[in-house]
Amino acid sequence: MEFRVPRKVLIVGGGLAGTLMAWGCQERGVDFEQWSNGSPAASDVAAGMFNPVSFRRILPQWDAANQSARAREVFSIVENALGIDLWHDVPIIRIFPDAQYAALWTERARGGHEVTPFIESMPADFLHPSINAPYGAGMVPDAGWVNVRLLTEKSRALQLQNGKWKNHSWSMRDGCPPGFDAVVDCRGVGAAADLAQFGLELRRNHGEVITVQTAMDWGAQTVNNVTWTLPLGNGAFRIGSTYRWDIEEPVVLEKSLNHLLRQANLARIKPALLASDVTSHLAGLRPSCFDRRPILGRVSTQHHWYVACTGWGTRGVSIGPTMVDWTLDAMLGITSDVPDEVHPKRFRTFTKN
Ligand SMILES: Cc1cc2nc3c(=O)[nH]c(=O)nc-3n(C[C@H](O)[C@H](O)[C@H](O)COP(=O)(O)OP(=O)(O)OC[C@H]3O[C@@H](n4cnc5c(N)ncnc54)[C@H](O)[C@@H]3O)c2cc1C
Repeated sequence: MEFRVPRKVLIVGGGLAGTLMAWGCQERGVDFEQWSNGSPAASDVAAGMFNPVSFRRILPQWDAANQSARAREVFSIVENALGIDLWHDVPIIRIFPDAQYAALWTERARGGHEVTPFIESMPADFLHPSINAPYGAGMVPDAGWVNVRLLTEKSRALQLQNGKWKNHSWSMRDGCPPGFDAVVDCRGVGAAADLAQFGLELRRNHGEVITVQTAMDWGAQTVNNVTWTLPLGNGAFRIGSTYRWDIEEPVVLEKSLNHLLRQANLARIKPALLASDVTSHLAGLRPSCFDRRPILGRVSTQHHWYVACTGWGTRGVSIGPTMVDWTLDAMLGITSDVPDEVHPKRFRTFTKN
């Protein structure tokens, strides 16, 4: 099939991926319409945190410097266009789990490691007095959160006003609707059944977060002891997350709420949170792939108009703006294809392989 640059694109999905794709099309002058059927979105649950460091092994996240810079740039453009604050810089305090981890962090923070630009050591007397860190703690200064829900709600209102939004369901069997030359699939886990036809497994990673209201002075930084506690201001904190592969629906579990409360309390010298402090408890399904990389681009010659943009996993905020760039660059013929690391061909089961 001969390559043609699409004149009008249908973006399916009203979560973070669909929203950023709409902004990407707008930035490049590509005509689009956005459809969503209102089914549960991971983006309505996401804490929206960005963090360039993988704490498990004290390493930078995938392409962290480039992706963080692009995220900052794109969200700033959107903030200005919508006239709202979305981006919040909030450093993360990582509580060390043991002496060995503390030694490794300190060594890497000192210099000469790829993670060095992203982490700092922290003298004990710099720690907020509420924090319980018997082995010490380190800091990630260039971290924070984006108000994803506010972004999707305000963007939807704008697209509605511009006549570019429809409450409408779509799936592969509907084909490319009249008037459009391409469909960009931003349905999150809603794309799983269609992608499976091409041997692409999109997994559902179940996660829960809670919000609490407390009178305790817990400082203005995010505290991470595997579970994170993110200050939202005025005594509200978001606490998350859980990660499970065995639950296929976005249901909340009391066990998870108790686990998150217990973990948040463990990070403090005076454990104070009670179940009665919880003001919300939400669950969602993160669209995820086997190697934690998204699925972008064309998946079939027969459905040449279909372009995937999903599988953003746990890190939609950090990677999203770059994933939109890569998808649009390939769709518009600026690059010959999406990079190998997000290409469907990396799935051994991909039917085109
Ligand atoms: C508990 C939890 C905490 C998280 N915390 C963070 C975090 O701190 N930082 C971070 O970066 N990421 C976080 N994430 C991950 C983040 O939510 C995802 O990376 C991102 O939101 C995925 O966005 P999406 O648009 O691809 O999918 P979704 O948000 O799920 O959106 C899918 C959209 O498609 C629509 N749709 C589905 N099927 C159809 C259909 N057939 N027709 C039309 N529309 C359809 C849905 O209604 C929805 O609008 C978290 C996720 C969870 C669950």
